[in-house]
Amino acid sequence: MADKPRECRARVIAVRRLAAEILEIDLLMVEPPELAFAAGQWVSVPFGPKTVRAYSIASAPQSSKRITLCADVAPGGIGSAWFRGLVPGAEVSFKGPQGGFVFTRADPRRPLFVAEEIGIVPVRSIVGELYATGFGRSAALAYWARDPGWLVYDAEFLSLARRYPSFAYHPVVASATGPWRDAAGGLAEVVDRIVADIEGLVAYVCGGERMIHRVRDLLVAKGLDRKAVKWEKFW
Ligand SMILES: Cc1cc2nc3c(=O)[nH]c(=O)nc-3n(C[C@H](O)[C@H](O)[C@H](O)COP(=O)(O)OP(=O)(O)OC[C@H]3O[C@@H](n4cnc5c(N)ncnc54)[C@H](O)[C@@H]3O)c2cc1C
Repeated sequence: MADKPRECRARVIAVRRLAAEILEIDLLMVEPPELAFAAGQWVSVPFGPKTVRAYSIASAPQSSKRITLCADVAPGGIGSAWFRGLVPGAEVSFKGPQGGFVFTRADPRRPLFVAEEIGIVPVRSIVGELYATGFGRSAALAYWARDPGWLVYDAEFLSLARRYPSFAYHPVVASATGPWRDAAGGLAEVVDRIVADIEGLVAYVCGGERMIHRVRDLLVAKGLDRKAVKWEKFW
């Protein structure tokens, strides 16, 4: 079960650059020594009395002593500057876990995950946990980025799709040449193409507000109940 949100401290133990402007960090929990969270939850980093930035946990909850965060640092504000400045050994403080963008396997519906760029972070945790713990039912992921280099975690999803035929993975990029040429387009167009039947569907949509509205309106127009579209707005 997920912990109630609490003040936490952790130490940076690794920093990786996944793309030109996307950084991933591993944190070793210090206080508490383990963080129980549900896949899809986030932590908030304080920058002043009323200023925080939220970061979803990219790793799956099976690992509670060591968690991973992943950020697009292109926006360039205080959150991005903080993330860019993290080095191994640095101590960080945050409050977590928080949020309800979680999929419980007691839910009998078929999950459709829709992620725009760094919006993939909570989805990576949810999908990773589901398949690591024997989720046998079907699930689909539509994942958009401006170009293939921004599709971080693409190799992981390809590998999952190869191992689990019930997992349908649909990467798409705004513009592409070479092998990606046929996967160029917009996220709503992909969702439109892959959702033929809304019966028993539940959608988890994460990214920017405009995309969330477009995808939700599209699914609702296909007959899906508005409440069956869960969303997490990053920007
Ligand atoms: C629940 C939740 C979870 C989040 N999880 C993550 C996460 O795991 N990884 C992550 O990178 N961010 C995540 N975010 C966004 C994050 O909290 C910050 O907003 C982001 O890092 C930018 O902060 P900043 O201070 O650098 O820029 P700001 O000064 O806050 O933002 C500058 C401008 O950029 C826009 N913006 C912010 N992020 C993006 C983006 N990715 N693409 C395009 N425009 C953007 C903002 O709306 C604003 O207009 C999450 C947000 C929420 C609400």
